[in-house]
Amino acid sequence: MSTRRDFLQNITLGVGFTAMAQSLISPAAASPFITKNPAQKLRVAIMGLGSYGTRVAEAMEKCQMAELTGLITGTPAKAEAWKKKYNIADKNIYNYSTVSQIRNNPDIDVVYVITPNSLHHKHVIQVANAGKHVICEKPVADNAKQAREMIAACDKAGVKFYVGYRLHFEPHTREVIRMREAGEFGKVMYMENGSGFKIGDPTQWRLKQELAGGGALMDVGIYCINGARYGTGEEPTWVTAQEVKTDPVKFKEVDETMTFQLGFPSGAIANCSTTYNFNGLGSLRLIGDKGFAQLDPAFGYGPIKGRTHKGPLDQPVVTHQTAQMDGLADCILNNKPDPNMTGVEGLKDMLVIDAIYESVRQGGKKIMIKKV
Ligand code: NAD
Repeated sequence: MSTRRDFLQNITLGVGFTAMAQSLISPAAASPFITKNPAQKLRVAIMGLGSYGTRVAEAMEKCQMAELTGLITGTPAKAEAWKKKYNIADKNIYNYSTVSQIRNNPDIDVVYVITPNSLHHKHVIQVANAGKHVICEKPVADNAKQAREMIAACDKAGVKFYVGYRLHFEPHTREVIRMREAGEFGKVMYMENGSGFKIGDPTQWRLKQELAGGGALMDVGIYCINGARYGTGEEPTWVTAQEVKTDPVKFKEVDETMTFQLGFPSGAIANCSTTYNFNGLGSLRLIGDKGFAQLDPAFGYGPIKGRTHKGPLDQPVVTHQTAQMDGLADCILNNKPDPNMTGVEGLKDMLVIDAIYESVRQGGKKIMIKKV
């Protein structure tokens, strides 16, 4: 049976980070708890040593500008194993109740929060209050209200806040964005994005509302939304959405399959679908009045593949998490403009997600999306 891991291996996404689309969250970071790093490497602590945390740590071994220097975990056995594997000093290992002590640790610049979705709000605010920069996994929060609170906490603490939208550093995705910005597709008319997989273990946190904040939409449908936003270069203004549930026992608490339509100010529309109930959904399609792009797979770990009206895309294949962490390190250490993966970028997707759930609650009614 295909697993979530297979799905992610078989799809890819990419977002580009574009100068135009930069959304700056905070002024220059001013936290007194971050010291200048003479080694010019971003010193990263990972919070949540689970499946994706493991992938990020392994990818960071190949980073040139970022290194793993700390851990936050509730499981002493994991701390022991990671400490040996990554040569982490004992003084850089924390548990969930000692997070505030990180403020006094000069070996840690940023904490990467990789815990279940509904804990992101609490964990990001804890890290911000400890005076360290934060990277948080997607979805940034359960809803837009939480995302706003997280952004405010980071701004108040003078720390930077990013969301782990790895595709924003993925070369095929970036090329599509570059072409769109250069006008090579002409006016973007239509997008069709799909992202889903058949979920396994019925007892996992992803199927529990309290920890996941939602189902397929929150977990992987978010890639369709983010993709529609970087594909069009616009913020959607309205949504209509439909939910189908074929297994009300397994999906008692969270959404199983959703389809939704986004409308953009230019008149472009995006037709999107997401599921936890079948494999094979993982592509992005953009149609303009002068050309097209198709990424398939578009949202998993890669290799991402695709073509445009000019021919096949042959950008380099990269490990997304290595590129992401080097890219973020470059932004933070060299004070470069923030990529399009800040807390505000996460908020924009949450505003759409809030409206999608509202549309479903109202039987598919057209819902206007709130603005940042
Ligand atoms: P996981 O279950 O494998 O790991 C979660 C970690 O959080 C575990 O180490 C667990 O011990 C820890 N944790 C702390 N408090 C917990 C609690 N109260 N309940 C349960 N676990 C708790 O999950 P994962 O697949 O690593 O996902 C973690 C986050 O990473 C999610 O937000 C997910 O959306 C995100 N993610 C992102 C990508 C991506 O491509 N960007 C891919 C996979 C997962």
